[in-house]
Amino acid sequence: MQSERYFIGLDLGGTAIKFGICSKQGEIVQEFQQPTRADKPVKTILEDLAHAIQTAQEFAKQHQLPVAAVGMGTPGSVDVECGYLRGNTPNFKHWKDVKIKQYLEEKSQLPLWVDNDANMMAFGEATFGAGKGFSHVVCVTLGTGIGGGIIVDKELFRGSNYAGGEIGHMSIKFDGEPCRCGGIGCWELYASATAMIKNYHLKSGDTSIRSTKEIFEKYYNNETIAREVVEQEIEMAAVGVANILNIFNPQMVIIGGGVSESGDWFIEQIATEAKKRAMLPSSEGVKIVRAKLGNSAGWLGAAAFACHRLEE
Ligand SMILES: [Zn+2]
Repeated sequence: MQSERYFIGLDLGGTAIKFGICSKQGEIVQEFQQPTRADKPVKTILEDLAHAIQTAQEFAKQHQLPVAAVGMGTPGSVDVECGYLRGNTPNFKHWKDVKIKQYLEEKSQLPLWVDNDANMMAFGEATFGAGKGFSHVVCVTLGTGIGGGIIVDKELFRGSNYAGGEIGHMSIKFDGEPCRCGGIGCWELYASATAMIKNYHLKSGDTSIRSTKEIFEKYYNNETIAREVVEQEIEMAAVGVANILNIFNPQMVIIGGGVSESGDWFIEQIATEAKKRAMLPSSEGVKIVRAKLGNSAGWLGAAAFACHRLEE
């Protein structure tokens, strides 16, 4: 009888390294967290990551869990085949041009795969979360910005140069605001949590509001401005989702991030609006649902990805 194999996943974030051990089916055995020293040199961050893997390996050893491979998500553009991080990681001071796979495989003595963190999160939701059992899934994270990942036929879509899938930077307003990416009128400028808060500030003049949660509370209390802001958010989110439906014709769109925590009713309204705008038959039968894995999606996705690659 072949014994169950386990996987370690890591999610390198701007403030914390979230990591854990899970089974092949995505059952969480143990979760860990340690702070990220984002302003430190590359070597320090690599050592911290190696330490995280070691922590998980020791736990696995104590509990007699055979670990088969490690997966990791990092901000930035990653050459997945050689596990090389090119760069573009604004929250980190020096984190670019790093041979992540080479260093961590040597330290851990385990096969290891690295990809972009948004891709890993999407892969986690598609494999173990809301998208379990589906082959064509697009994940959208409505957070500080808008991130996401595209899964076509069970594989992540990355483009020719590992730079694709930047759904937050599709332009929805040709003469809109300039974006940090160099584009104009990008979706995230209108439908992210940041955009929603900014919209509330503009409409109300009250800049003490710091979270979308506060805006939703005011919405539930029937405050006129909060209602306008939430309605506009639904419209703006739906515009982008409709574009996604027309281009990718997915079976499912999974919406996560801070804004989605307001509840299923909010996702349902985005779905209704998006379907009105999208073409048939892409708008027919598509499921538009809320993400399930929360903060664990990143490391779970990385673990799922390692399992997926190992089996190839
Ligand atoms: Zn942009």
